Amino acid sequence: MINLAIIGGGPAGLTAGLYATRGGIKDVVLFERGAPGGQITSSSEIENYPGVKDVVSGLEFMQPWQEQCFRFGLEHNMNEVSKVSKNGDFFDIFLSDGSKVEARAVIICTGGSPKKSNIKGESEFWGQGVSTCATCDGFFYKNKEVAVLGGGDTALEEAIYLTRMCKKVYLIHRRNEFRAVPITVKHIKENPKIEILTPMIIDEIKGDSSGVTGIIVSDVNTKEKRELNVPGLFIFVGYDVNTQVLRQDDGKMLCDTNDLGQVKVDLNMKTSVKGLFAAGDVRESAMKQVVIAAGDGAVAALSAMEYLQSQFN
Ligand SMILES: Cc1cc2nc3c(=O)[nH]c(=O)nc-3n(C[C@H](O)[C@H](O)[C@H](O)COP(=O)(O)OP(=O)(O)OC[C@H]3O[C@@H](n4cnc5c(N)ncnc54)[C@H](O)[C@@H]3O)c2cc1C
Repeated sequence: MINLAIIGGGPAGLTAGLYATRGGIKDVVLFERGAPGGQITSSSEIENYPGVKDVVSGLEFMQPWQEQCFRFGLEHNMNEVSKVSKNGDFFDIFLSDGSKVEARAVIICTGGSPKKSNIKGESEFWGQGVSTCATCDGFFYKNKEVAVLGGGDTALEEAIYLTRMCKKVYLIHRRNEFRAVPITVKHIKENPKIEILTPMIIDEIKGDSSGVTGIIVSDVNTKEKRELNVPGLFIFVGYDVNTQVLRQDDGKMLCDTNDLGQVKVDLNMKTSVKGLFAAGDVRESAMKQVVIAAGDGAVAALSAMEYLQSQFN
């Protein structure tokens, strides 16, 4: 029996592990299916984490996190978790190698990932001009023209955000109507820096060794093509949260989730199940930033410590 199981070793999970072990909790295990670090390790640069003034790659950025987090006794179990269930006062952590671990408390930090559009050139220029986060990468395109793909709330809000630093934003959507709330659509239509291209699709992302140099778009109805010489393309076609571990044998989720599948938590990162906490991109209304995931992880660990103290001491 372990005290605390942390599922997922991104910024949220690593921070939770640091706070729990440094706070004196013994037998804290981080279950991470790969090398710890999380989605930021796929980014070529991060420059918005407070205190880190140099622009570094996501991989470099996460290196010292592991070192620091494991210093206080956090154990890394390099396994994929297939399911977490409640068993009386405890939790069963089922691993994909067939084994099972019992835990008194659990923090879910399994994160998520932006959906890919599968446009030609997307994988090649992922992180080299193709981005899924305006807050993260918008600044790199200061006074330049960029394109945004998508028609939902996120796409439109991110397009508006980009107009604060970019010269012009092309908003590309395959339908004439947007799925975003009417007030956001109104703001988009009134923004002089945004050119709406609908119903349009992107046929190809073009580039060279320096990254994206442009995109080819075509009209869904007329098939007419146009080339946009943009160095940046922001893709917002959905986001998958990794909550499979919470699905029980009867198909229900272990704790409450919202319509988007995100885990519902309170301000202390407590879920609807006692002893079960969630932190980072997997939780409801997450801002999907490293600094926020880390903050969540710290809060969840402090809440879990309080829970362990009150229930088992
Ligand atoms: C390309 C890119 C660029 C970004 N740039 C920035 C930036 O510049 N600034 C910024 O602040 N944010 C940036 N972000 C966002 C940031 O990476 C995320 O907000 C942050 O990583 C979320 O942390 P997390 O710990 O909640 O989840 P994640 O980072 O997603 O980590 C979750 C971890 O859980 C593991 N996991 C999932 N399921 C299981 C399972 N069943 N068993 C075991 N392990 C599991 C995964 O392997 C993963 O390591 C970027 C994201 C991307 C994709």
